[in-house]
Amino acid sequence: MTTSSAAEATSRKPRMTRMTPYDEAMGRYEPVLGLETHVELGTATKMFCGCPTTFGAPPNTHVCPVCLGLPGSLPTTNRAAIEFTTMIGLALNCRIAEWCRFARKNYFYPDMPKNFQISQYDEPLCTDGWMDLAADGKTFRIGIERVHLEEDTGKSLHVGSTGRIHGADYSLVDYNRAGIPLVEIVTKPIEATGALAPQVARAYVTELRELMRTLGVSDVRMEEGSLRCDVNVSLMPRGASEWGTRSETKNVNSLRSVERAVRHEIERQAGVLDAGGTVVQETRHFHEDTGTTTAGRSKEYAQDYRYFPEPDLVPLAPSPEWVEQLRVSLPELPSARRERLQKEWGLSDSEMDALRNADALDVVEATVAAGAPPAQAYKWWLNELSRRATEQGVELATLPITPVQVARVAELVAAGTLNDKLARQVIEGVLAGEGDPDEVVRRRNLAIVSDEGELAALVDAAIADNPDVAEKVRGGKVQAAGALLGAVMKASSGQADAQRARELILEKLGVPS
Ligand code: ADP
Ligand code: MG
Ligand code: ZN
Repeated sequence: MTTSSAAEATSRKPRMTRMTPYDEAMGRYEPVLGLETHVELGTATKMFCGCPTTFGAPPNTHVCPVCLGLPGSLPTTNRAAIEFTTMIGLALNCRIAEWCRFARKNYFYPDMPKNFQISQYDEPLCTDGWMDLAADGKTFRIGIERVHLEEDTGKSLHVGSTGRIHGADYSLVDYNRAGIPLVEIVTKPIEATGALAPQVARAYVTELRELMRTLGVSDVRMEEGSLRCDVNVSLMPRGASEWGTRSETKNVNSLRSVERAVRHEIERQAGVLDAGGTVVQETRHFHEDTGTTTAGRSKEYAQDYRYFPEPDLVPLAPSPEWVEQLRVSLPELPSARRERLQKEWGLSDSEMDALRNADALDVVEATVAAGAPPAQAYKWWLNELSRRATEQGVELATLPITPVQVARVAELVAAGTLNDKLARQVIEGVLAGEGDPDEVVRRRNLAIVSDEGELAALVDAAIADNPDVAEKVRGGKVQAAGALLGAVMKASSGQADAQRARELILEKLGVPS
């Protein structure tokens, strides 16, 4: 840290923040990230058979000879899965292979009944793309190494007090998930993020999730495991040119956990390196409760899997015309949509970021569509409602108020029926279930008082209660009228029409306004 000059030290508040171990590590090391994201596709049937893909069915009811790997059964490729994967590749600016094959990845695992997984290896469907994202006001271009298709495995349930394989009494296996199409999206090594690495990782997964949702290829429910992420992290000394050894934290399944896992791995690896140790290439598990990772198995290498071209399937050869057709029919992508809305609404970059972070784009768009000026829609959702959502720990969109109701509040403000303070009370009433904004205004009697008689009485009372102030105003000190207006507003619980009341005060005291 630099020492500040005496002048600065007196003119600024003392800085209470101390360097955290993380900040200190970032002074010595540069992280490199790699994110492998698995997305379960929302096809009706599995990747290589006709079994349904719906979540939550009784165990082993969505199975057939193909996905159970029974001898003699043969797979056929799901066309919709190829289409979805190609769409993802196009949206990520990838090259789409004109010819590629599936590969067999050989290993034994009880939740994988064939003893191999059909995947893609050296001939993936989509390669060499990119995605732009913003983190902390900076733009990062993330390289996409490949997007490939594979099949999901089944699920093991370890029965016993630990819930984990260690210490389990026995294990059960459910093959309903076995064979569900899974897309794997692998980034190129992400460099030069510095201390922002955890935020960049989170922003990437956030953006990817939004993209999948927009494309309609997956329901991307992280909590149900339909989007999960392997987080690779390595450190190299600042200024070094060679990447360090990476760890791979498996199956991280929330946005927050992605950020925490990266941060923790940076801190842990810095500790290892500082102590003169070496980072081991291994898979690790993330623990939600502690925010830490522990070692899993040591990493196997590609040759361990004896990959070879899948002999039971014909190669994939998507025609350029078909790919082109998909390209032109892609929906408006999230980044393009944000750009368009920003222009239409005239918001700054930081306001757009705030909207995204609050997950408020959809509700603001709907509020503007219901007739509210964009600045008003922004203001009520972001400054008022988002704060309440955070306080209650709920998603903004689940608050019991609709975009149409917020638009009506904005309209009442624009019409002069409400001021901001009253509007806040109306919103409170709507949230409390007291009805639509107009109903709340009526019931709580919140409309601005603009009746001349009522206002005149309020003004007279203010003048009578503050004779010295009134005298000053009469003498030409017009600014002093503010105190009288304050008294009027106070007496009316903020409901007086402030502009008209001010005019009346000056009129009554004989000052031309
Ligand atoms: P594996 O199957 O062994 O996990 P992949 O190539 O599928 O290998 O994924 C590795 C991920 O880690 C990729 O995103 C890659 O860009 C990234 N990566 C490679 N080397 C490093 C490194 N030294 N540090 C951090 N990430 C890395
Ligand atoms: Mg991997
Ligand atoms: Zn099946």
